[in-house]
Amino acid sequence: MVRPFGGADESEDMDATVVVTEVRDVGPDTVAIEFETPDGFEADPGQFVKLSGTVDGEEYDRFYTLSSPDVQETFEVTVGLDPEEAGPFSRHLVNLEAGDELGVSGPFGRSYYKGESRVVVLAGGPGIGPVSYTHL
Ligand SMILES: Cc1cc2nc3c(=O)[nH]c(=O)nc-3n(C[C@H](O)[C@H](O)[C@H](O)COP(=O)(O)OP(=O)(O)OC[C@H]3O[C@@H](n4cnc5c(N)ncnc54)[C@H](O)[C@@H]3O)c2cc1C
Repeated sequence: MVRPFGGADESEDMDATVVVTEVRDVGPDTVAIEFETPDGFEADPGQFVKLSGTVDGEEYDRFYTLSSPDVQETFEVTVGLDPEEAGPFSRHLVNLEAGDELGVSGPFGRSYYKGESRVVVLAGGPGIGPVSYTHL
């Protein structure tokens, strides 16, 4: 079932500190960042998390869509860096290394996939994240 926006959200939100396990270049100015999944964290394709951290003494938090096929052992987000307009937090994210830590909360989002065997999705821009997560 693809839940409509505004539908009931049955997921349990959580706040945790997560450890980066890998950072990979996946395209021009684009990296996939993998984290160890904290205990109790569950999410469905299409949902997103809030990442938080300190950059030059300032606290930042921004939302990122999950881009891994599941969240069982690790989970992943994909961050695009606009070379001209990027703010401090996305610049910080693309320079992370294995072993670094960030805060995570979520998951958020009421429009996601729930085990459908066949779906058709049209996506562009920010919509690419949840589409890659479904492994269509
Ligand atoms: C629900 C949700 C899901 C999101 N999922 C993702 C995701 O999966 N991957 C991802 O990279 N971002 C995603 N974002 C955007 C992300 O939350 C940040 O806004 C982005 O990383 C820029 O943060 P910043 O602090 O570096 O820049 P800011 O200081 O917040 O922004 C500075 C200016 O530059 C613009 N800007 C910065 N980076 C970009 C960019 N890459 N493309 C276009 N304009 C930009 C901003 O719009 C703003 O005008 C998502 C946002 C929302 C609301």
